[in-house]
Amino acid sequence: MKGSEMKLYAKKEECCGCGACADVCPAHAIRMDRDKEGFDYPCADGSVCVHCGRCEEVCPLKNHFSGKCSNQYAGARAKDEKVRYSSSSGGVFPVLAQYVFERGGVVYGAGYNGCMEVVHREANNLKELKMLKRTKYVQSNMQNVYRGIKKHLEENRWVLFMGLLTIPVVWIVSEAGWVTAEMGRQPWTIEGLLPTRAAVSAISPGSVQLTFWMFVVVFAGLLVAEISIMTREIAKAARRDILSSGH
Ligand code: SF4
Ligand code: SF4
Repeated sequence: MKGSEMKLYAKKEECCGCGACADVCPAHAIRMDRDKEGFDYPCADGSVCVHCGRCEEVCPLKNHFSGKCSNQYAGARAKDEKVRYSSSSGGVFPVLAQYVFERGGVVYGAGYNGCMEVVHREANNLKELKMLKRTKYVQSNMQNVYRGIKKHLEENRWVLFMGLLTIPVVWIVSEAGWVTAEMGRQPWTIEGLLPTRAAVSAISPGSVQLTFWMFVVVFAGLLVAEISIMTREIAKAARRDILSSGH
């Protein structure tokens, strides 16, 4: 321990590095330090600590050990060890997939194409499912997947989709962040310095409208350019996929 450094845990097993203590500390006495293996652990500065005890209260591991809170978790894993180790995260995917296959359904998941790119694919049996097992830590190409799913749903077949439902969430969170930031700072234009009412300028409505429409024209042009580049690149990638799959 260096100088006034306080230890929040005795052994690394007593800290999962969640960072809740650092966030809750009202004195900003706790910082997360990276160890030589690349994991972040909290380190508290005793000279700033006001001994409020919040870091102890919030810690999930300390509360778990003391029995103060009823930690509740839900999880599942495949009973069959072979199935479990053939997949990731407890092997639940093949178990669910088998259930769907037994009912004549299809399964969609992330696999690789001939160029080793991650793409979503359809599997109709356990043999085809092999290529969809194991976690892939990159974004998957979803081309034609929704069309296939729609077709199978129209045929009244079971469909199991495995993949990131979080892909659109990034966009939603980013937009929601802007709304929260803009609305949350009212009544300030600059927090603590310039109230919104004092920030009103004497520019005429005509000038504001002119600037607004200029921005609309410029950004509309940029949008058209971006969409045309994107569609051209998507078409190129699709042609490459078709060629690589030998069709
Ligand atoms: S006791 Fe309070 S002030 Fe001290 S480190 Fe913990 S949370 Fe921060
Ligand atoms: S709250 Fe507990 S488990 Fe989380 S970083 Fe702090 S000491 Fe570690």
